[in-house]
Order: sequence, then structure tokens, then C-alpha cells
Amino acid sequence: MTANHRLICTLCREEADRTDWRCRACGGVLQIAWTGPAPAGRIAAHGRGLWRYRPLLPLMGSGEIVTLGEGGTPLVWIERWAAVHQLGRVGLKLESLNPTGSFKDRGAAVLASHARALGIERLIEDSSGNAGASIAAYAARAGLTAVIFVPASAPTAKRAQIARLGAEVVPIAGPRAAAAEAAVAAAGRGAVYYAAHNWNPYFAAGMATFAYELIEELGETGIDHLVIPTGGGSLFVGAYDGFVRWRDVTGTTVRVPRFQAVQSVGCAPLVAAFQRGLDDVPPIVRHPTVAGGIEIERPPRSRLILSILRTTGGTAVAVEDAEIIAERERLAELEGIDLEPTAAAALAGLARLARDGVVRREETVIVAATGAGWKDPGPLGSSPSRPE
Ligand SMILES: *Cc1c(COP(=O)(O)O)cnc(C)c1O
Ligand SMILES: [Zn+2]
Repeated sequence: MTANHRLICTLCREEADRTDWRCRACGGVLQIAWTGPAPAGRIAAHGRGLWRYRPLLPLMGSGEIVTLGEGGTPLVWIERWAAVHQLGRVGLKLESLNPTGSFKDRGAAVLASHARALGIERLIEDSSGNAGASIAAYAARAGLTAVIFVPASAPTAKRAQIARLGAEVVPIAGPRAAAAEAAVAAAGRGAVYYAAHNWNPYFAAGMATFAYELIEELGETGIDHLVIPTGGGSLFVGAYDGFVRWRDVTGTTVRVPRFQAVQSVGCAPLVAAFQRGLDDVPPIVRHPTVAGGIEIERPPRSRLILSILRTTGGTAVAVEDAEIIAERERLAELEGIDLEPTAAAALAGLARLARDGVVRREETVIVAATGAGWKDPGPLGSSPSRPE
């Protein structure tokens, strides 16, 4: 099977090798560049879930895929929750129902498939929990080994899940960035692949399927706002690329929603950059937050995220821990859906956008429900989340 893509640097446009995880020339983040004719005709020929969009994904040499049934997640409308915030049509895309409980399975499935096709034997990742669990699961499924560096402050339930999935868990003291540094140091060359969700272009490419599913489900209606809890921006950037690619491939006029990024007040570099009109994130002071999944001080994809915010007319908004906990509880009580705090941050962000008049009652809003409640039971559960 011939490749349908190349890897290029988003900064200097240099072409990269398919085993690189960042640009060797300038250190920039890599991106898929599509080659050859766009897949014609029916895109989603058969099946459900992520691989339904296989012709739109970066093809692997051997053509073998690694799957656990990811994608194809339900979209549910939360009228009661919406009414509390003077909103109308709010849909939650339940990424929490993916095989390991978060949207990161979409990226891990594509990345693991790619890694196996390249003959890689070992995956290295750093994660506050969910990406680690996804990489561990798909590595196991693919017959690869995995080493996951986690901040020592990561929720116990997440660390336990990674270990159960057969990966080696290496706790790293200090801030989230320390785990990333340790992982980079451990990732060598050859058969060991740095599978970082914050860098890896194949991981982000898997996220385009999140957009494809929304387009297929809501094509005619369209979406006014897409609200995403954003740390490194794999979903934010990947979903945006999905909307654009669908439009390019099908030639249809798909409306790209306004992309709304939600961060925690404790760690909001994108909000700081957005508010000051900067092209890249400024250095920030980080404070502990219950939303550990979006605690990324220097997101490698920051420039892409900021440009998508501007292109789509979106905003970046920061929310307090108390708002996150309140909306988590409200959603569970009113709608029967339990999300982890990082995912509930999106709802807290939407509540703010509604109060600020950015999102209006007559508009259609989709919220990425990125992770399941059991991942991080919180203070009422048996394994409290303990931010540093
Ligand atoms: C990883 C994660 C996010 C943020 O994803 P990024 O790709 O880092 O922006 C949001 N919610 C949950 C539950 C996550 O695990
Ligand atoms: Zn470069």
C-alpha cells in the first residue's frame, strides 16, 4: 500500500521522516500533508466507529489496523442542563464511552496502527493519565510494550488503569512538564517510539474522526459552537483539520463551527495569549487544578490552536475549579452523565460563554465530553484527585 501522506513541519515546512515525532531542523510540531488524489466517492462505505473513515486516515504501509472498537460515540442532547444556563440546543458527544474512557483512544488507535506498521516495538508516552491509558491499551492490543511517565500527582484511578493495561508506569515528581522531559530523555531511536499525544501527528490525525462523526450526524443543521477542554490541543487541532479535510475531499460546504477552547484558571496559557492577541503562549505561573488533563504550560501546538481560534471566530475561556465541580455535579444530577473534572471543565466554560453572551439560546452547541467520571472520582470517591 502506498502512503497517502507525508509529514511536514508546521513551522519551517521541512519534510520529516515517518518515525520522527518533531522537526529535526527546527523542533517544530509535525503535521500530515496529504498527497495524491483525494479518496473519491463514498467515504464511509461501511462499518461503524473510527475505521469507517479509513480512506481519510493516514495509511500505514502494511495496511494492518489496531482497534478496540473506538469512535462512533453517541451524541446526546442535554435540555435540562442547557435550560439552567439559558441555552437551547446543547449536545454532548460522549467520548467518555470510548474503550478506555476517553477520546484519546481515537489517537492511540491510529498511532498504534502506524507504529506496528513501522516495526516499532516500544512506545514511550508522558501523560496525566488518559493518554497513558490509551497508549497502554493499544500497545497491548498491538503486541507492543509501553512505558508511561506520569506526574506523581496524577489521580490514583488513572495510574492503576495504566498499570492494569500492562504498561510500565513511571511516576515523576514535580510539574506536568517534568514527566514530558523524562519521556523525551527515555525515547531513543530505532524501535522505541515517542508516542506523545502532544506532539504526534498520527495521534492528532485520529481526532479528525470526531469531526467526521459530527458532520455525518448534523450535516444539515450545522454546529454554531464546538466547546473543547484544551490542553495540548490534540482534539482541538485534529477536529478542526477534520472539518477542513471533509470539505476539501467531499467538495461540500461544511460549516466549520466556532472553536471554543476551555482551560482551567490554574493553567491557562492559551487564554493568556488569546486575550493579549499573541501568536504564541507567554510563560505563565501554574497553580494546582482539578482538571489535570488540560494542565499543559507550553502546548507544542499552541500556534495552531491560536490561529484556529482566530480563523473560526472562537474564544479561549478559563474556569475556576469550583465551577468545574459544580457543573460536574449538575450534569450528573440533571442528566445522569458523570464526567471527570477535566471534561466537566468544558461545561463550566460553556456556562461562562452563555453568561457573557458569546453563545446564545438559539444556537447549536456541541460539547466534547472528553473523559469518564470513573477516571477521576474526586473528593466523594475512594481515590481522590490530589492536585499538587
Ligand atoms: C487529554 C484530555 C483533554 C485535553 O486534550 P488535549 O489534546 O491535551 O487538548 C481534555 N479532556 C480529557 C478528559 C483529557 O484526557
Ligand atoms: Zn521545522
